[in-house]
Amino acid sequence: MYRTHTCGELRIEDAGRKVTLAGWVQKSRKLGGMTFVDLRDRYGVTQLVVEGSADPALQECASSLGREFVIQATGTVVERENKNSKIPTGDIEISLESIKILNRSVTPPFTIEENSDGGEDLRAKYRYLDLRRAPLQRALKLRHDIAHEIRNYLDAQNFMEIETPYLIKSTPEGARDFVVPSRMNPGTFYALPQSPQTFKQLLMVAGYDRYFQIVRCFRDEDLRADRQPEFTQIDCEMSFVEQEDVLNTFEGMMRTLFKKILNVEIANPIPRMSWYDAMDFYGSDKPDIRFGMKIHEVTELVHGKGFSVFDSCPYVGAIAATGCAEYTRKEIDALTEWVKRPQVGAKGLVYIKCNADGSFKSSVDKFYTPEQLKAISEAAGAQAGDLVLLLCGEKRKTQTMLGVLRIEMGNRLGLRDPFNFAPLWVVDFPLFEWSEEDGRFYAMHHPFTAPKPEHLELYYSDKKEDLEKVCANAYDFVLNGTELGGGSIRIHEAAMQERMFEILGISKEDADYKFGFIINAFKFGAPPHGGLAFGFDRVCALFGGQETIRDYIAFPKNNQGRDVMIDSPSRIDQVQMDELFLQSTAPAPEA
Ligand code: ASP
Repeated sequence: MYRTHTCGELRIEDAGRKVTLAGWVQKSRKLGGMTFVDLRDRYGVTQLVVEGSADPALQECASSLGREFVIQATGTVVERENKNSKIPTGDIEISLESIKILNRSVTPPFTIEENSDGGEDLRAKYRYLDLRRAPLQRALKLRHDIAHEIRNYLDAQNFMEIETPYLIKSTPEGARDFVVPSRMNPGTFYALPQSPQTFKQLLMVAGYDRYFQIVRCFRDEDLRADRQPEFTQIDCEMSFVEQEDVLNTFEGMMRTLFKKILNVEIANPIPRMSWYDAMDFYGSDKPDIRFGMKIHEVTELVHGKGFSVFDSCPYVGAIAATGCAEYTRKEIDALTEWVKRPQVGAKGLVYIKCNADGSFKSSVDKFYTPEQLKAISEAAGAQAGDLVLLLCGEKRKTQTMLGVLRIEMGNRLGLRDPFNFAPLWVVDFPLFEWSEEDGRFYAMHHPFTAPKPEHLELYYSDKKEDLEKVCANAYDFVLNGTELGGGSIRIHEAAMQERMFEILGISKEDADYKFGFIINAFKFGAPPHGGLAFGFDRVCALFGGQETIRDYIAFPKNNQGRDVMIDSPSRIDQVQMDELFLQSTAPAPEA
């Protein structure tokens, strides 16, 4: 037996027991005649001690231990003189009788402790060493626990976990596909799934009325902050359901997770907001409702008073930053520069200070009387002491900018505590999104989403303005300003699915070529169905109180989509290229 206990297990009650531990040497130091060793495994750290009076061979062995050596150590649990209240094993130490070195280690490139001195790149290159650190071990344990609870919950609700293939045909979720050349079918390619969307719908046609899968998805996107080219979804689908059934089932799942994992009771029921309200009042389709500071339209109040900047804009909106009336000139200038950054994109910022004494001071005093400033501030929801911030321009664009500004002010005012959880369902999405640039409609969710039954007439209309009004039974689960999941009630009739491709400008031939299998399947008694998927990595990160998903994935990729540990992607040799009938036109990568 290598060990009788783990390194996180022994307590003062164990004093006097003879034990054997195995693990990694985190640190060793000599003090007087004694040698102390911190021994680590994934359960914790236990202090080992070799007394100055111990067998000289044992003392020598203890002093020869380097960081990250793997050892087996036997001794007796004793009460410590200098207790360490910071760790659960801090009341005891093991007085050693023997040490066996199981393996040596070269000096690790960074410290492997709660906080490391290694930079991000270095730690990524030696990910297996970084993974020995307690914060990462806690993150992966949390991930495991959440997955376990999800399986328990869904199993109890009669869901079956069914695997779907990775080598498939394109499933459009709005990103580029990763493709895999087929050796056996020269000149053809598989696509890796952006999601199992079409397969889960085919499982509904096949009668598996409650499906789920914790599954990898692949999207070849430019990796903006905190995206991974491969990530994990909790993917679900149900037959014979309406939107209400889906929302209730997964509200139950999230409620159970919060309770079991964090012992947190979330709002019951989870509030719902239409997509239109989310855009109008929060400037985002994923509102953070932990705080108010809503967006208010003030267009009518500000128009026609001689301020040409406002007069020339179709929309003027405002937020009231709580208690910020005391912002200095310098702070307001800095905020103005901030909204002008390309990431926000505003042309300028107008403010009204609602002073505590009831007076008003604004950057547009020339154009508005104090009464008018008061009316605008009140419309923006401001109270004495608040700072009203106004932006103007095209409606949705301006609301989006105000939404970004609102989040910034929320951060500055400390209103976004990561352990205050405010879930929300965003519902009633438009079915289509018009792209000015491409002069065509895109599916707001994906092309398998059904129009609301009451909008069927609009759906079959040829007019752009009718199609813009079509709403979908689509829904997103939003937590603290992050979209954690989304789904919809699906189309289950061939003709309606064909109409969808027609609206999206996909020719009949193209639709048949790409999606003939699903249109065809709908001809064989497809049941009404709907579902959703959650971003599993992100669920884990938010439950851990973190914004970045990377720590919750054992082997993530960096911002360039590279795994620097295994050095991938990398070139393949000519023989492989020839077998796959591939020729590269890319310049040779730098060595
Ligand atoms: N397949 C969708 C997605 O990946 C989720 C769904 O509609 O169920 O976003």
